[in-house]
Amino acid sequence: MSATGAGRAKVTQTRVVVVGAGIAGLAAAHRLLRRGVGVTVLEAADRVGGKLLPGEIAGARVDFGAESMLARRPEAVALAREVGLTDRLQPPATATASLWTRGALRPMPKGHVMGVPGTASALAGVLSEEGLARIERDADLPRTEVGDDVAVGEYVAARLGREVVDRLVEPLLGGVYAGDAYRISLRSAVPQLYQAALTHDSLTRAVREIQAKAAANQQTGPVFMGIEGGVGSLPLAVAESVRERGGEILTGAAVTELRREPSAGWRVVAGGRVLHADAVVVAVPAPAAAALLRTEAPGAAAELTGIEYASMALVTLAYRRADVTLPEGSGFLVPPVDGRSIKASTFASRKWGWIADENPDLLVLRTSVGRHGEMEILQREDAGLVEVSRHDLREATGLDATPLETRVTRWTDGLPQYPVGHHARVARIREHVGRLPGLAVCGAPYDGVGIPACIASAYAAVDQLGGDLSAVPELTANPVQSLHGGAGE
Ligand SMILES: Cc1cc2nc3c(=O)[nH]c(=O)nc-3n(C[C@H](O)[C@H](O)[C@H](O)COP(=O)(O)OP(=O)(O)OC[C@H]3O[C@@H](n4cnc5c(N)ncnc54)[C@H](O)[C@@H]3O)c2cc1C
Repeated sequence: MSATGAGRAKVTQTRVVVVGAGIAGLAAAHRLLRRGVGVTVLEAADRVGGKLLPGEIAGARVDFGAESMLARRPEAVALAREVGLTDRLQPPATATASLWTRGALRPMPKGHVMGVPGTASALAGVLSEEGLARIERDADLPRTEVGDDVAVGEYVAARLGREVVDRLVEPLLGGVYAGDAYRISLRSAVPQLYQAALTHDSLTRAVREIQAKAAANQQTGPVFMGIEGGVGSLPLAVAESVRERGGEILTGAAVTELRREPSAGWRVVAGGRVLHADAVVVAVPAPAAAALLRTEAPGAAAELTGIEYASMALVTLAYRRADVTLPEGSGFLVPPVDGRSIKASTFASRKWGWIADENPDLLVLRTSVGRHGEMEILQREDAGLVEVSRHDLREATGLDATPLETRVTRWTDGLPQYPVGHHARVARIREHVGRLPGLAVCGAPYDGVGIPACIASAYAAVDQLGGDLSAVPELTANPVQSLHGGAGE
């Protein structure tokens, strides 16, 4: 944020302050401006985007954070189109991936819902004979009661045996949450299966029905979508659109205080700046949201404090293409049960056509390490993480070449965990927040950690504010107006 003189707070009046310029905060700001509501976005970091981080390695444009968007739900792809990225949307060049399991890279099975198969035969080759036979028992077992919620691993193991959980569900869920399948909520993480569990005795039959319905609804086309240059381009484009529409985005502006005004509206303090707003959207991770809401919504703050996070690191490696021969596909997942160090590897140059096109002589890939409760590996220096990545890549794929360049990106407390009962916690947070007019929350801690889910939560926050905003007369004709600016501001 631009420097302000000591003790000379700059006071600004705006309709809505959005705290946090991750994809959720930016999507909220964008939606508000489209509705003609003035916005100021305050971001603590010196850049926008949060967990979306574009960068370069050996001259290649890559993502150092999130790298793909689910395309089976509309929000992310639609937002990318709205901000002018239509021509840059690109599906993965290859949809085939592998599992590094039981000592070999094996093709990722098709025909499953988050690793839960419709038939035992769908997992042939991935599971042992005993594991496959255990799946068949699902048809004969009485219904497994799931109550208000249950852990994904517990439920799936009860129906199909632990091997399905350990070898397939765990690495797939781990890829999204960096968490533990035996703790993650079925209701929050795989709601389709939770609903099915309430009405079906057999889980495999429920999965077959879900698949048949998807086929009938013609849910074809790519499941995921990328953006040429990296999905890290999305927040940059949204931010540009926000500014073009008259919104203000301040970086280096950590919000430290959020108070209700005695009459109406909110007072927001960020460094030397004080903003008065009709409404506030809090779009920051749970610990930061808890700190901001502690005074005005202590109940919400207490609940937010209970949300745990997983830390992880991404190791990006660039090789001379001529030095590398890789197996087919876009990469592989690793079941934790095998005790390897890496959780997954993405062959970025294979997966994203634009990386290969722009850098034909390079081969870029990345690994991920760390998951919830597994801190030891992340204590290592960057060089140590590169070393374990190279070791595991060599074991899995035979890749023995020396990389031209490596980069370690640490995401400390990067992913909120959704344990059993998460939905009820979120409902309680929303109840506390909903009691305060002109306050809404959104982002990864609530209704899904993926990019489209974060955008959807932002739009829901804007809808929630709609009524509050129409009840308050607009403060300023100009969305952001400096009332008392200090010199040099
Ligand atoms: C390594 C990694 C890989 C991932 N890969 C994928 C993927 O491929 N596909 C996918 O869909 N999802 C992926 N995710 C998940 C997804 O990227 C995130 O859940 C999502 O981007 C979170 O967006 P957000 O806006 O809620 O929060 P964030 O991105 O965390 O943004 C919150 C912002 O608030 C700011 N902030 C915090 N405190 C304050 C304060 N007091 N004042 C002002 N600003 C503040 C932060 O600096 C940050 O910029 C990944 C996540 C990680 C960590």
